[in-house]
Amino acid sequence: MKTSFAPDRLADPAIAEAEQILRRCVHCGFCTATCPTFLELGDERDSPRGRIYMMKGMLERDEPATADVVRHIDRCLGCFACMTTCPSGVDYMHLSDMARARVAETYTRPLPERLLRGLLARLLPYPGRFRAALIGGRIAKRLGLDRWLGGLRPELKAMMALMPDEVPAPAATDRPQLWPAEGTRRGRVALLAGCAQQVLAPGINAATIRVLTRHGFDVVVAREAGCCGALVQHMGLMEQARDQARRNVAAWAALADQPGGLDAIVVTTSGCGTPIKDYGHLLAGDAYYADRARLVAGLARDVTEVLAGLDLTPVRHLPAGLPVAYHAACSLQHGQKIRDLPKEVLKRLGVTPLEPAEPHICCGSAGTYNMLQPELAGRLGARKAQNLRRTGAAVVAAGNLGCLTQIATHMPEARFIHTVELADWLTGGPVPDALAGVVEAGVVEDVA
Ligand code: SF4
Ligand code: SF4
Repeated sequence: MKTSFAPDRLADPAIAEAEQILRRCVHCGFCTATCPTFLELGDERDSPRGRIYMMKGMLERDEPATADVVRHIDRCLGCFACMTTCPSGVDYMHLSDMARARVAETYTRPLPERLLRGLLARLLPYPGRFRAALIGGRIAKRLGLDRWLGGLRPELKAMMALMPDEVPAPAATDRPQLWPAEGTRRGRVALLAGCAQQVLAPGINAATIRVLTRHGFDVVVAREAGCCGALVQHMGLMEQARDQARRNVAAWAALADQPGGLDAIVVTTSGCGTPIKDYGHLLAGDAYYADRARLVAGLARDVTEVLAGLDLTPVRHLPAGLPVAYHAACSLQHGQKIRDLPKEVLKRLGVTPLEPAEPHICCGSAGTYNMLQPELAGRLGARKAQNLRRTGAAVVAAGNLGCLTQIATHMPEARFIHTVELADWLTGGPVPDALAGVVEAGVVEDVA
């Protein structure tokens, strides 16, 4: 794509990077075939190619974002299916980061939108605040206020629909501490305790700690680590995202510097793994943190990558009549290019994963997307649920809680489980909550 940035603008490293990205696009339009918003809306401006043109215009002319540009950028899920498809290697991820930051800096959103986004940015990354908000939401539901709240804004209605029936008690596994290896010690890893996931589904990190310690790893939950920064990054709040990244980098780099070091930083939410693996880029301009950020990014592993390196020996198997489908989270398959590994891990555990049609298409979860774009997220959620339903699956496994929560609202008849919870249970852990009541009768124990 031909660009015409003013030479003085190219002195800004971010603009120079944007120019390089834009120049790779050859307008072929292959990406439109796999873009969920283009498939749903059929509007070129809601395709990757159309958005790239709009971003180019805004950045090249150094203009503030217009309402029209914001509408189409906001509708982008950040699923990065376009990057998987693009034959020219256009780095849509970093270009859209710049465009979202430009929107945040130059566009004044209507007051209700500002309030809503501000609320999400101040609640979701902080487990204590998020838990209090969920409890408040539960009380509002009991008092019948949810319909009134939902009537105020479609986004509030979507939040109420996504709210769990119960808020689990805080888990000991998410508190900063060392979980020592069992048996022969083979290494030490840090675990990202995360933010929203530890409140909604503490069983995921607990299962990870069990399966890793059983296989010889010390697991450390670092005191200072917290939200990965993805939630605010997706809203264009890049400085907040960098601050959250710096805190994690400092915490994990300090662990890596200790005697014994770190073999990996294990991430159980693939939506967090993608930005953590990109910390080197996010903090490249920070003289103090750049090297540490690269170190941390190089150590980050999705939990399925770690599971794949273990000698996983199933001690039980799923009862007949409980077929499992695997849902590929976009952050895993497109963001981290981990497509087949989780299915191979499941096969080694004796599970034959069913694969839905359109596995490359996003379920509509995408961080805060299902709250901020409920109509489009609902259409994509229903589309994903229908494709999963056609597999005949009774259980859906995935590596990202956001996807599991989103699809569950459209597929109430199924059970939803994280891949690592299946791995833990099948190799000796307790029955996961998602399978409680259905496996006890049919499970076959193979323990010698
Ligand atoms: S990130 Fe996803 S929604 Fe956004 S343009 Fe690319 S394919 Fe479309
Ligand atoms: S597939 Fe790549 S090169 Fe082709 S239009 Fe899309 S972004 Fe541009």
